[in-house]
Amino acid sequence: MVRSVILGLRYLLSCLNLTLILSLTGVVSATIHPQEEMRVFTQLPATLQEVDVIIAGGGTAACVIASRISDADPQLSILVVEQGGNNLDDPTIVHPLLFLSYLAPTSNATLFHQATAEEQLGGRELVVPSGGVLGGGSSINLMMYSRAQRTDFDNWATNGWSADDMIPYLKKLETYSGPGSETTHGFNGPEQISGGTYRANRSTDQFIEAAAKVGYPEIADLQGLDFNNGVQRAQRFISPEGKRQDAAHTYLHPRLQDGKHPNLNVLVETQVLRVIFDGKKACGIEIRPNPAKQTNITGASKQTIKAKKMVIVSAGALGTPLILERSGVGPTPETLFESQPTATFQSVLASPSVPHNDPPHKD
Ligand SMILES: Cc1cc2nc3c(=O)[nH]c(=O)nc-3n(C[C@H](O)[C@H](O)[C@H](O)COP(=O)(O)OP(=O)(O)OC[C@H]3O[C@@H](n4cnc5c(N)ncnc54)[C@H](O)[C@@H]3O)c2cc1C
Repeated sequence: MVRSVILGLRYLLSCLNLTLILSLTGVVSATIHPQEEMRVFTQLPATLQEVDVIIAGGGTAACVIASRISDADPQLSILVVEQGGNNLDDPTIVHPLLFLSYLAPTSNATLFHQATAEEQLGGRELVVPSGGVLGGGSSINLMMYSRAQRTDFDNWATNGWSADDMIPYLKKLETYSGPGSETTHGFNGPEQISGGTYRANRSTDQFIEAAAKVGYPEIADLQGLDFNNGVQRAQRFISPEGKRQDAAHTYLHPRLQDGKHPNLNVLVETQVLRVIFDGKKACGIEIRPNPAKQTNITGASKQTIKAKKMVIVSAGALGTPLILERSGVGPTPETLFESQPTATFQSVLASPSVPHNDPPHKD
């Protein structure tokens, strides 16, 4: 916690040095790659009403999963359904300096979840932001290269999810150019990790010096899984040339454009309402155009998409439980109705692993 706060503060300091330049930054217009234009839709085409794999949500994890499945078998028809818009070449996303715009309440790429009042917070209701655009949180976040500690993984005590099990995947993700050991860092992955193109060295040095005086030494590589309680000259999800490394630009867009993944498709500006079950087997989803994005569409426009092989729900820590509960999957049948007593849910599966009551069910 202390480490994260220190890193966050330090990063903000370095960015604030640059905010003046915001007003000088030119806006580059996005050009849609012709191959990609054929694969990213705002309306469901008739050819995609039945696919092999549906991925509900098009955020950070979803972009990676869709890409890996498509690599494994390019013949599989895959449809990613994202409630936000396409992020391709959006200058406010690819240029790291503009990240602060996503914390503004007017941001159309951020979802703001209103929490319930907390006694421990003097009755205040927190607002929790999350990604609301293709690429999810990776498109709008602060780009700090921050990994869990070895103990975080090991404490799950779950077969296949220990730190040692995870290291090959952590390495596979990245092309790392910071300090540290090659036993925990990778050098051939799609995400470039670097210090970016700018550092406010004077304020960084002063901050590190001050932290050392109160007992937090400088550690060259805090992200090596075995180091804590110190400060580091941060590495970032930014390429050495200065571009944000969001999961859509590093995984999804290259595959939508390379002509080698002809069955990978994306439906944007479309909300997943629920997963449809045949007994206990997920066999499709119900969708509707996102009314906040597609204002030209009125009236009842729910549609279904069938999945021949599987439905993956990857709508984030706050979005996934909502979709699952609307689909009849919650901790208990009763919890499904707590926030929406008049709704017509059919309980499909009682699963204690679905978090309940995190945000209220307002969407
Ligand atoms: C402001 C902010 C700053 C952050 N800073 C950092 C940082 O510096 N470093 C770091 O490592 N991490 C940071 N994070 C955290 C990191 O970005 C997230 O942990 C990560 O992106 C989560 O990935 P995910 O795939 O689980 O979910 P997400 O990336 O949130 O993806 C979920 C996707 O599902 C979509 N969705 C939700 N509901 C529906 C629906 N009903 N139908 C269709 N689509 C839906 C959403 O629009 C979203 O695109 C930050 C997060 C935020 C919000």
